[in-house]
Amino acid sequence: MSSIDSVLKETRLFPPSDDFRTKANVSGMEGYHTLCEKANSDYQGFWGDLARELVSWRKPFTKVLDESNAPFFKWFEDGEMNVSYNCLDRHLESKANKVAIIFEADDGSVSRVTYRELYHRVCQFANGLKSLGVVKGDRVVIYMPHTVEAVIAMQACARIGAIHSVVFGGFSAGALRDRIQDATAKIVITANESVRGGKATPLKAMTDEALGIGNCESVEKVIVFQRTGTKPDHWSESNNVWWHQLVKGLPDICEPEWMNAEDPLFVLYTSGSTGKPKGIQHSSAGYFLGTQVSMKWVFDYKEDDVYWCTADVGWITGHSYIAYGPLGIGATQVIFEGVPTYPDAGRFWAMIEKHQVTTFYTAPTAIRSLIKLGGDLPKQYDLSSLRLLGTVGEPINPDAWMWYHEVIGGGRCPIVDTWWQTETGSNMVAPLPGAVATKPGSCTLPLPGIMTAIVDESGAPIEPGKGGSLVITRPFPSLVRTIYNDAARFKSTYFPDEFNGKYYLAGDSAHYDEHGYIWIMGRIDDVLNVSGHRLGTMEIESALAANPLVAEAAVVGRPHEIKGESVVAFVVLKGDRPEGEEGKLIAKQLREWVAHEIGKIAQPDEIRFGDNLPKTRSGKIMRRLLRNIAKGEEITQDISTLENPAILEQLRHSAL
Ligand code: ATP
Ligand code: MG
Repeated sequence: MSSIDSVLKETRLFPPSDDFRTKANVSGMEGYHTLCEKANSDYQGFWGDLARELVSWRKPFTKVLDESNAPFFKWFEDGEMNVSYNCLDRHLESKANKVAIIFEADDGSVSRVTYRELYHRVCQFANGLKSLGVVKGDRVVIYMPHTVEAVIAMQACARIGAIHSVVFGGFSAGALRDRIQDATAKIVITANESVRGGKATPLKAMTDEALGIGNCESVEKVIVFQRTGTKPDHWSESNNVWWHQLVKGLPDICEPEWMNAEDPLFVLYTSGSTGKPKGIQHSSAGYFLGTQVSMKWVFDYKEDDVYWCTADVGWITGHSYIAYGPLGIGATQVIFEGVPTYPDAGRFWAMIEKHQVTTFYTAPTAIRSLIKLGGDLPKQYDLSSLRLLGTVGEPINPDAWMWYHEVIGGGRCPIVDTWWQTETGSNMVAPLPGAVATKPGSCTLPLPGIMTAIVDESGAPIEPGKGGSLVITRPFPSLVRTIYNDAARFKSTYFPDEFNGKYYLAGDSAHYDEHGYIWIMGRIDDVLNVSGHRLGTMEIESALAANPLVAEAAVVGRPHEIKGESVVAFVVLKGDRPEGEEGKLIAKQLREWVAHEIGKIAQPDEIRFGDNLPKTRSGKIMRRLLRNIAKGEEITQDISTLENPAILEQLRHSAL
């Protein structure tokens, strides 16, 4: 493989303020390097010490890492612990009355749950699951609105050793059925309805539909949380049970099931951006450790923080940075049921002011859409409580990064651009905010103990400035253990023979800059090959998004007789979608803009405009579908995770 050419030049640098640096959990580059040196010189000692410091063990481990059956690695193998115990019980002594969750419902009503209350509610629901015969190792599918109860359901599973598989509440009955079947789930936990953006979705009815489609014989009971006053159309006395009736009169104390460190905690499907979703299976202790390390180092957790991660519990971000990370470290966190644009695009900013949020973690897609829908709205709110901002999910284009930094962060808050995946379980590459100076669009440096490399197809390192495949060269505790029910796919996808089965292949392209910073360039699958130059999608998209007219852009390659491939760009403007002559004029301007910003080689041959782009339900652009559209092909791929199927039709007819 030839390397990938980098065409975007971004030189702005933002070191942490003296104030932030002095108070930070890891202070200054000396602090960062000290940790890295320890990891380099004594890898197992480094992780072993962290595991003793950040995890409470029932039975201490004696062995850190077992690599004998690579790539099926084992961490802290003979140790015993329980993740729910680590998130609840261990806080009861010192912070039972601390607010664990500030819940803001879709309609704006707010409730607060302390650690003691959360502990009792989790215990009681765990007893409810036990009363239905759920035992360690059983699979439980959770298909819930984004409420406190979703977290309680996950924690209760963890408490009794049941393996949860959370399915985002926006998924269709068909996607739910697939996941129920794949997990052979014994129980499904759902709600009568979910409410988002003022609209109710009948989750119970969709669960019935999923079960009705067939082959879900494993399911013995459906537990229904009553979110709204609406009665479900169908109710089976033998198979359905209301959450509140299930727990009625049950004790609110439940001894945790002591789990082996390697016992699975959950299975969760990837977003499906690049293909059919993979069922990622995580361990108990190693996974949990990853969440704790990153809460401390990347989110620089402080006792009086009000932390808010806007993801849904249906995604890995909602698992690691809502259900487990913040609770494990004892934080006060905001959970928001609704959507950022309801009642208007100022909702996030209003909530930051209202709850005095200090740490705010969201996705580039949310930032870009809020710029498009109301770039001026943040000014109406007092955002001075914020001290740290984060982003995850996709590469953030430097323009959106600068807006986030200036308009939301007041130029004062470091931005942690966190690169990681469902498979990695926790942040892998991200600035430690009191140490590493940030650059817009770069996720900067790997966390101490995370060994990255950028390599060509044979596994040979690629020189800085050139792009290649991002790999992680040593196993780490929070790494995926297997693909559920498909160990062979696990091995061939993540530890391919090309790298002698030794490197974890992330599937993203990236390059190092001259300071050793990592820049994600897009997905390996999406690399374009134009006149012998291999180009990642991120840089061309960032150049387009830097134009003042543009809100968002996605580029794909289309076969071209002479060039090999030509660049086709799908663009969403901040204003209305242009058509006809106006569209042609703007397209011409944008083509010239790209040529000027990053060079003629990256200039799109064709530009198309849409009201939106095809996105996964977790908000990621699905370029594989855009490739079909650019070529004028029918779409026959997996679209089970596509959020907005209607956009495909619009884009199909968007040629100017
Ligand atoms: P699938 O694996 O099914 O195709 P997916 O990769 O989108 O879906 P996730 O695990 O949700 O599923 O997403 C991980 C991917 O998201 C990463 O591989 C990377 O491409 C992208 N990503 C996440 N965070 C960042 C970030 N900070 N910068 C750049 N890319 C990111
Ligand atoms: Mg992926």
